[in-house]
Amino acid sequence: MTASVSQSIGADATIGILGGGQLGRMLAMAAARLGFKCHVLCPEPASPAFEVVRRVTEADYSDKAALDRFADDVDVITYEFENVPAETAAFLAARKPVLPDPRVLAVTQDRLAEKEFVVSLGIATAPYAAAKSESELIQALSSIGHPVVLKTRRFGYDGKGQATLRSGDDVGAAWAAIGGQPSIVEAYVPFEREISMVAARGSDGKIECFDVAENEHSRHILKASRVPAAVTPAVAEEARRIAGKIAESFGYVGVLAVEMFVVADGTGYSVMVNEVAPRVHNSGHWTLDGCSVSQFEQHIRAVAGWPLAVPLRYGRAEMVNFIGDEVADYRRWLDVPGACVHLYGKQAVRAGRKMGHVTRIFP
Ligand code: AMP
Repeated sequence: MTASVSQSIGADATIGILGGGQLGRMLAMAAARLGFKCHVLCPEPASPAFEVVRRVTEADYSDKAALDRFADDVDVITYEFENVPAETAAFLAARKPVLPDPRVLAVTQDRLAEKEFVVSLGIATAPYAAAKSESELIQALSSIGHPVVLKTRRFGYDGKGQATLRSGDDVGAAWAAIGGQPSIVEAYVPFEREISMVAARGSDGKIECFDVAENEHSRHILKASRVPAAVTPAVAEEARRIAGKIAESFGYVGVLAVEMFVVADGTGYSVMVNEVAPRVHNSGHWTLDGCSVSQFEQHIRAVAGWPLAVPLRYGRAEMVNFIGDEVADYRRWLDVPGACVHLYGKQAVRAGRKMGHVTRIFP
């Protein structure tokens, strides 16, 4: 796969962003700092990114007339989420460059295709099998054993569409819990820690990685990221190598994140890929305050055909999400030395919804 902008765009150009959540909002803010204008297309009214851009289109991703007007108004198009419908991406790509190349979406929208792609690169994942029915799930359990994590192939995020099955658990209930959707069955990984590598690849093929983050999840939702992760130099190097290899194989342009498990084996540690996100990532939010370039600016530079910056981290960083009504507490951080509060401007507080985050830097 290859994707490139034939030439770089000037700082007065307009960048189109598909998706209007907090990632789109922070991308647009980084773009504005470099002089770019942004146009966000998103179906949801009052999307967080709408507040900070020159133009918004509130329209469905299948609205061809709206997509046409959007494409006409922008110089390059990117996205803040991986579930952009394939037809939308193809329609837009026929009109303006879409980066990262939409062919990346076909792989990362499907957990099975993604696993097969990662394995084809010689990179380790948890042992897995596909299951399209309850009987295939039973077959997978007999080859993989217990416990397993059952995940729908599509549209799963923040633990949605997932069920853990331990020995003695009711298989039918687990199958029903994920809605009987085509799924993958993964061996449960007894990981020592979870890490992620946020990396950028420029249109010239240059790769810049941020320092590896250590991630703490609560009910399958990212709660905190700490940088640098408490891993050996060999593990950090392996995480960089894996992210670089994936980015290169995709001919990727932009920022991507690779979530990984660190597993202790007899003599040392091994690294397994859990998930690839073809976009900026929550575990890279610390870069806004803790690094000479943020993941958002790096992504904008890449899709604009600009050279990537060389990231310099200012110190140890800790990012904590405000999830649901935890956001009510943001004021207590306002006068904490070195704390940087970010609120996404979301109107409705809902359980499990990411409302903002706070980053602390320890130089
Ligand atoms: P995912 O949606 O695949 O990123 O999974 C969300 C979280 O569930 C991960 O960050 C892990 O904490 C946990 N998880 C997912 N898959 C596995 C697995 N195979 N073994 C152990 N924990 C897992």
